[in-house]
Amino acid sequence: MTRAPLKTSIATVCLAGDLREKLSAISAAGFDGIEIFEQDFIAFEHGAREVARMAEGHGLEITLFQPFRDFEGLPEPLRARAFDRAERKFDLMERMGCDLVLVCSSVHPEALGGIDRMADDFAALGERAAARGLRVGFEALAWGRHVNDHRDAWEVVRRADHPSVGLIVDSFHTLGRGIDPDTIRRIPGDKIFFVQLADAPKIDMDLLYWSRHFRCMPGEGDLDVTGFMRAVAATGYAGPLSLEVFNDQFRGGSPRTIAVDGRRSLLHLMDQVARLEPEIAISAPPMPPRIHARGVSFVEFAADEGEAENLGALLRAMGFRREGRHVSKAVDLWRQGEARVAVNTDRDSFAGAAHIAHGLNVCDLGLAVDDAQATVARARALGAATFAQAAGPGELDIPAIRGVGGGVLHFIDGSSGLAQVWETEFRPVEDDGPARPAGLTGVDHVAQTMNYEEMLTWSLFYLSLFEVEKQPMVDVVDPGGLVRSQAIEAPDGALRLTLNGADTHRTFAGRFIADSFGSSVQHVAFASPDLLATAEALAENGFAPLPMPDNYYEDLSARFGLDDAYVARLRAASILYDQDAGGRFLQLYSRPFGDGIFFEIVERQGAYAGYGGPNAPFRVAAQARLMGPPGLPRDARSSMDDQTRTRKGGRP
Ligand code: MG
Ligand code: MG
Repeated sequence: MTRAPLKTSIATVCLAGDLREKLSAISAAGFDGIEIFEQDFIAFEHGAREVARMAEGHGLEITLFQPFRDFEGLPEPLRARAFDRAERKFDLMERMGCDLVLVCSSVHPEALGGIDRMADDFAALGERAAARGLRVGFEALAWGRHVNDHRDAWEVVRRADHPSVGLIVDSFHTLGRGIDPDTIRRIPGDKIFFVQLADAPKIDMDLLYWSRHFRCMPGEGDLDVTGFMRAVAATGYAGPLSLEVFNDQFRGGSPRTIAVDGRRSLLHLMDQVARLEPEIAISAPPMPPRIHARGVSFVEFAADEGEAENLGALLRAMGFRREGRHVSKAVDLWRQGEARVAVNTDRDSFAGAAHIAHGLNVCDLGLAVDDAQATVARARALGAATFAQAAGPGELDIPAIRGVGGGVLHFIDGSSGLAQVWETEFRPVEDDGPARPAGLTGVDHVAQTMNYEEMLTWSLFYLSLFEVEKQPMVDVVDPGGLVRSQAIEAPDGALRLTLNGADTHRTFAGRFIADSFGSSVQHVAFASPDLLATAEALAENGFAPLPMPDNYYEDLSARFGLDDAYVARLRAASILYDQDAGGRFLQLYSRPFGDGIFFEIVERQGAYAGYGGPNAPFRVAAQARLMGPPGLPRDARSSMDDQTRTRKGGRP
């Protein structure tokens, strides 16, 4: 079968800015076309011919003009007036160089029902459109007065039986009303004139309000847009796929970012559809399948010498041993089990620049994957920014891209060079190690804190690149406001990331973003198979955990009916506890340091699925107490010297 190349399009209504700004963001993101939303045109200071020239200048085809409302089923004289209105819009479309108009199902209070009456109106409109070489597409609005289901809209189109009249399907209107998308498979592909795509989070609210404010890019919400698109693709449809997303956040956001997310969502969607539904008439750009991530292989901090010394003392107290020194850079490698922490004080590298911009921060995450080159190839195909830094003497060229907050994600696989990266790039050092190893086995999860508006961007980033799934969003009540937390996990649990979105700088997470000048890793959680034993070793090493109030432990006994001796042990070690149907969960936190970074150690028993969400408000309150009131300069707050009991009163 010869296939048409994928044509991506987006409605101008999706983005912030005036028409000029929108077009330039859309073009920069690599779209092929745009839907001109009438309001954007009316608000624009130039005419239709100028819009046509602008679109052409940006290499964009005008795929659709929309919406034309309240057309079908009207009694006279309203009916005649509707046809006159249509002729004016046809004039405009001719000047704009657009041949397809979207007619959405009527919500007019005087509109009459009756499939045949509506079909007759469309046949007559098709005749007028055909005379000018134009086409008409009919879309069922989920809240249309007489037509609110694509199956009814199709019946109108079928009976209109005019070559210039076709159907427009929109994933939101079909899926939002819970209509089975597989019913689209019965419609001939050449009678589907246009396809609009949007996702949405599952929220129980009025359909119209939900649609106008909460739509999001395919993959960012909870609707089965993949199932919808599979059905559409199976009809043989080969036209543009166009995003029509009404979202308050997007309309206030950066047009460039939203456009890049939008294109990424379409490429990812069609990649999934092509793998699930091979008999389709659209060819998706080739890219490796979603990447199987095998876990976090290293976490790299950018630090100055003083911070590196304090961080080293904290890591040692947590049972890490300084294992190596980089062959050509000022980087120390700390290791315990499969948990590796690199501390980079090199000024002339990416870490040096990251330290100037953010202070002490995690500037780099290493992820273990099956195929590092394929990971970068897929990321690049999805529009991610790649990262390259000239390899120094003795250094490997490790494939990398840019991630959250401009940080770097490196990918390490089992291929010959990369598998030996630690032996190749680091020389062993003499180090006595901690007084007692703490039994940490690896990284359980990494938490990235960001502004709430960035959460959809980064969840789509991870979901489109890796074989991961998102868990339901959890609200964490912070003394200063609400923080939303979204876990993203590989099905086997090998990779776990949590994205925490802060609305306000008054929250602990929000202050972290403000103080560290951007989104980044706020905590790293290590795994222990026996947290009570780990806590004993930590205490012996002089580690000072985040103190939890007695009230917390009294409530714990009451909530879970745990026996007193057990709760006493948890309390003595400042361990937090949670359980779900699958198992138990123990957590221990370090005190916050830097701009509010911290470590966590967790023990998962059985099939516990969460991250201790019910404990988060109490943990955040304890951290906020230690950080002191907002606005204090960085070193007036709890410093890293408070991290270890042996270091009270400053450096030894
Ligand atoms: Mg629509
Ligand atoms: Mg955590």
